[in-house]
Amino acid sequence: MEHMTKLEPPTLGGARRYPAFINGKWVPSSDNKWIDVTNPADGSVVGHVPALARKDVEAAIDAAHAARRKIRDVPAIARIELLERAAHLLEADRSLLVDVVVAESGKPVAVAKGEVKSTLERLRLTAQEARSMHGEYIPGDWVEDTKNKMAVVRRVPRGVVAAITPFNYPLFIAAAKVAPALVAGNTVVVKPSTETPLSMLFFAKAMEEAGLPAGALNIVTGRGREIGDVLAESPRIDMISFTGSTAVGERIASKAGMKHLALELGGKGAALVLEDANLDLAAKEIARGGLRFQGQRCDAVSRVLVHEKVADAFVARLLAEVAKYPMGDTRDEKTAIGPLITPKAVAYAQELVLDARSKGAKVLAGGGFVGQYHEPTVLDRVTPDMRIAWEEQFAPILPVIRVHSVEEMLDLANRSEYGLDSSVFTNDVNKAWGVAKRLEDGAVTINGYPAHGVGHFPFGGNKKSGMGREGIGASIEEMTRVQTIVLNMPPAETPFDW
Ligand code: NAP
Repeated sequence: MEHMTKLEPPTLGGARRYPAFINGKWVPSSDNKWIDVTNPADGSVVGHVPALARKDVEAAIDAAHAARRKIRDVPAIARIELLERAAHLLEADRSLLVDVVVAESGKPVAVAKGEVKSTLERLRLTAQEARSMHGEYIPGDWVEDTKNKMAVVRRVPRGVVAAITPFNYPLFIAAAKVAPALVAGNTVVVKPSTETPLSMLFFAKAMEEAGLPAGALNIVTGRGREIGDVLAESPRIDMISFTGSTAVGERIASKAGMKHLALELGGKGAALVLEDANLDLAAKEIARGGLRFQGQRCDAVSRVLVHEKVADAFVARLLAEVAKYPMGDTRDEKTAIGPLITPKAVAYAQELVLDARSKGAKVLAGGGFVGQYHEPTVLDRVTPDMRIAWEEQFAPILPVIRVHSVEEMLDLANRSEYGLDSSVFTNDVNKAWGVAKRLEDGAVTINGYPAHGVGHFPFGGNKKSGMGREGIGASIEEMTRVQTIVLNMPPAETPFDW
């Protein structure tokens, strides 16, 4: 992060203190407290952000509330062009953004490049989608009751959207909330993860340069447990779009009152490998699905349910694939596995491995850790009494559960408290369809690992994985509400006195 570009947010003092962004101004916290942002790869401090006080967050909400009419009155085409200008500015600083994401999240550079690419595409596709953001005309004369009426159904902005985001896609997830919110005419307060707040500040700088009115976008940094309730409880916030753990999502839901909620929470993605699956394909996809960004993805493949008749052959192929994921320096293009986000995350992953081992699981690859790097791990002969069969590991660990039938696979898959993503591997399209329909997840991928990329398809969870859907079109829809205006008109045949 050495090079200076016009998108670099201002810094305060010599120690790379990046201020928060409130009401169009770059500000420290009112009590001048700062939080270190560290690189998980080596523990080095890569910047500091304000630990905002509750009253600073209130000021951001005030600013967003005051700006909500201003942004609504900006013609839609101007909002669309603003997003396009921001995308253009970010594009010019693509490599800087990649550096920031690598440094704050410990994402291997090849994976961080993918995140930045998806972010730019999402901005452009959101701008494109917004061009067809119209309401509806509904004639009333289909029904006797309303024959003299017609309705215009408008999609109107919700008002102020609070976007609370996790560490794992620090740029993409926040941008995928901010872009649809603004383009639909809302104002936004973003609370990024304390582990990874920097890329959002760079993003805000691009929005500022692109000409966004003051107050329309605010970035508040600070610890969720200290300032999160201010956002969750504020009566001046109309919607909360949250992505993160189920525990925090449930807390927000309990505090939010009548706000509109979109909650993208945890997952326990099952990959179902049927007897007739293409095992080479299944092993390749499942390894990628389980290991990409160290398995720190809500849609990661986090348990494999394989038919016992093909289990040995599948596991042999899986081990060969997993061997292709080297740990290493996150700035090296060849590195596939970087560090986990915190020492606590490593300790938790190890707890799950040790629990499984103690109950009879076989460690066929990895199993250990070095510093914050957890080895890519394959656990075979995992059984339902082990914690890793049910808990979200958020680490590069693939637990393999051998099963006797498709019914057993479906039972295990659906018994999870989560319902986000799953995948089915089979060469029989009839089986694929039948199994997919019976899975209780928001999305099922056939013959591939779950990956939501730029958001072309609607995405979201059921059960403890949350509520609401995100996606290029779906997010705009979530961030608008419907207003119906009914016109009671004289019948067409009524004579007029011209
Ligand atoms: P997290 O601990 O729940 O944190 C998410 C965000 O919530 C952070 O900004 C955090 O701030 C904030 N927060 C913490 N306590 C809060 C409170 N009391 N009120 C309001 N906000 C609060 O999640 P994470 O560890 O960053 O991310 C991993 C989790 O996210 C996993 O469970 C994963 O499955 C889930 N996830 C889901 C999706 C999806 O689309 N379904 C996508 C990505 C990740 P601090 O950082 O300051 O604590």
